[in-house]
Amino acid sequence: MANNRETPIEISATEFKKLGHRLIETIADFIDTIKDRPVTPGETPKQLQGLLGNASLPENGTPPEELLAKASGLLLNHSLLNGHPKFLGYITSSAAPIGALADLLAAAVNPNVGAQILSPIATEIEKQTVRWLAEFIGVSSDYGGILVSGGNMANFTAFVAARTAKAPKNIKEDGISNSEAKLVIYCSKTTHSWIEKAVVLFGLGTKSIRWIKTGADNKMDNELLEQTIKDDLKAGYKPIMIIGTAGDVSTGAVDDLKRIAAICKTYDLWFHVDGAYGIPAAIVPEMKPLFEGIEEADSIALDPHKWLYSPLEAGCTLVKDPQHLIDTFSSHPVYYNFDNSDESPWHNYYEYGLQNSRGFRALKVWLALQQVGRSGYSKMISEDIELSKLLFELADKHPGLEAITQNLSITTLRYVPADYNASTENKEAYLNKLNEALVNEFQKGGEVFLSNAVVNEKYCLRGCIVNFRTSRKDIEEIVEIIAKEGRKLHQKLQMK
Ligand SMILES: *Cc1c(COP(=O)(O)O)cnc(C)c1O
Repeated sequence: MANNRETPIEISATEFKKLGHRLIETIADFIDTIKDRPVTPGETPKQLQGLLGNASLPENGTPPEELLAKASGLLLNHSLLNGHPKFLGYITSSAAPIGALADLLAAAVNPNVGAQILSPIATEIEKQTVRWLAEFIGVSSDYGGILVSGGNMANFTAFVAARTAKAPKNIKEDGISNSEAKLVIYCSKTTHSWIEKAVVLFGLGTKSIRWIKTGADNKMDNELLEQTIKDDLKAGYKPIMIIGTAGDVSTGAVDDLKRIAAICKTYDLWFHVDGAYGIPAAIVPEMKPLFEGIEEADSIALDPHKWLYSPLEAGCTLVKDPQHLIDTFSSHPVYYNFDNSDESPWHNYYEYGLQNSRGFRALKVWLALQQVGRSGYSKMISEDIELSKLLFELADKHPGLEAITQNLSITTLRYVPADYNASTENKEAYLNKLNEALVNEFQKGGEVFLSNAVVNEKYCLRGCIVNFRTSRKDIEEIVEIIAKEGRKLHQKLQMK
């Protein structure tokens, strides 16, 4: 080897600038023209595989210039564009452009935010981000926590902390299977599927979930909740936590969190709030009362990659007493020399969650929070809500549409052909079939992207607006597109 090592992976400053400038121009043009592109190319996996071919692992290298040009072409022309103003599917937001720049910077410096000695300033930035997120949703800035990859991980992190805190003390040493206690947890039947993974991963088993029915308003029936807890106690179970949902995935309903907090207090249970989607709306003064009770939560999950418009991935767990995270996740192997600070202690994030080596996902969140500030987020989130209400109103007025629900920024509706006569039973079955077919059309059509919800057995189209690019005009056009496509599809189905 020569004194100056030559490697095929290094890129010189001159070349990096050339490549970088070109890529940035491509990205800038992409963002600028996103609204003129189809929301999705609607290609099949087979077509996509055809684009890549099936060559085996390359033996030798290819110049980065060529590779970046090819990768840009593939991604820009063959992706679903959740940054498109007419993308209202699931809960995936348009990504704040500053997030793309932040990820580039974070990757270039590459701090390992598992230990502060490996990420001196990045760890402080993450701590500040966590504190700001607590302020954002209106809980005490004493809450501590950690950034994770998304809502599932944020909920898992809190779930294990709750288990440590409320299960019998020997659970860490002896494990669940050696415990006499029959642990149970409570959540509404609308709770996101993360809970089913959590009970499998963390040893409680699916039978430990008490699915509580919701009322007509899609909120957890808290009378039934309390009765179920009483019955379980009588039967010798050990309740440990209640999960309140702040914005359920289907309809955006927010549970009565204040009442749940009170029940948790009465029965000494951990109070967890899953606010992955909805809780950022607490920054809007008029929405704040809806979230009353979150300030009493032992833990909260939220997803900056949803309503804070961070690019994927960014979730966050907040815990009222962060010591619960350390009690759960901390260990001190001999090969870590992370605590040799004289004055203020190092803050080592590996002790606060499931990950060990960690990327710097806080940067994109931290920068966006400063780019727009509290007022900017409050404006964007309240406008998203207003647009969702507009979608509901326009559907309600339209002779071919039926508006079903509207909460936070989620509207559900369905196409109902004005001229269709059938017995009620047949009609509901037909409408379900018709609207399901309509969702499928939209998901490959490219004009607008909606997803679905089943509300009181009605199959609905569902629009969730976590999209700062969506405008009034988009909503008006979307209503017309739904009506037009609905008519077409109805005629087609009638002819069969
Ligand atoms: C989106 C969502 C999740 C899952 O979050 P991911 O980021 O997809 O892992 C969990 N709970 C609720 C309420 C959500 O909206």
